[in-house]
Amino acid sequence: MSEENKKETKPVKMEDVKAKANEKKCPVQRVLCFVEEFLAAPMCGKCFPCSMGSYEADIRLKKLIKGTATEDDINAVKEIANVMLVASLCKKGKDTARYVLENIDSKEFTEHLSGKCASNECIEYVNYLVLPEKCTMCGDCLEVCKDNAIIGEKKKTYLSGYEPFEIAQKRCTKCGECIKVCKFDAIKLITAKEMAEKETIKA
Ligand code: SF4
Ligand code: SF4
Ligand code: SF4
Repeated sequence: MSEENKKETKPVKMEDVKAKANEKKCPVQRVLCFVEEFLAAPMCGKCFPCSMGSYEADIRLKKLIKGTATEDDINAVKEIANVMLVASLCKKGKDTARYVLENIDSKEFTEHLSGKCASNECIEYVNYLVLPEKCTMCGDCLEVCKDNAIIGEKKKTYLSGYEPFEIAQKRCTKCGECIKVCKFDAIKLITAKEMAEKETIKA
């Protein structure tokens, strides 16, 4: 085997899994990242509570970041972790369970059930919005948006009749590039819940 191939098959350590998960601010993203990284590498599949438990937890956690989970899903993930903690054959399964349990009992975690991700890492929970009162119609966001999600025309001096800039929510992939280039602080993140309220008021 060549040196290069040896590097590719280097086993992933549990410390690496934890370090990657710890980079996330949102506790749901942290737990999901840990479980996914564990499933992709150190999990060996030799025992049922760990292998099936991790797969089931992964499905439930994905529902949570998509905004389709219920309290039952959080309770199920807790129960899975408790079983894994006791019944997993090795330390790797037990460490995964411990990580889940350390992160799951927080306000930020359960707030996802009411449409809020406090750290704005779960993109299904946020929307980008142009604030017309701050927007100078400079057009920088228009140029940077690769998804053609910005509706607006760059303002030309002395000409009037411009429509305010807007974001077409259905096209927006929530990449965040527009917010980075806007020098006027005219784009903000709002929760999906706030967005729904705005749309109800408009209708
Ligand atoms: S607990 Fe250990 S032995 Fe069991 S599936 Fe997980 S990694 Fe494999
Ligand atoms: S970059 Fe900001 S100020 Fe410029 S058009 Fe976009 S939202 Fe408006
Ligand atoms: S977040 Fe990305 S896709 Fe959405 S409007 Fe901004 S630049 Fe376009």
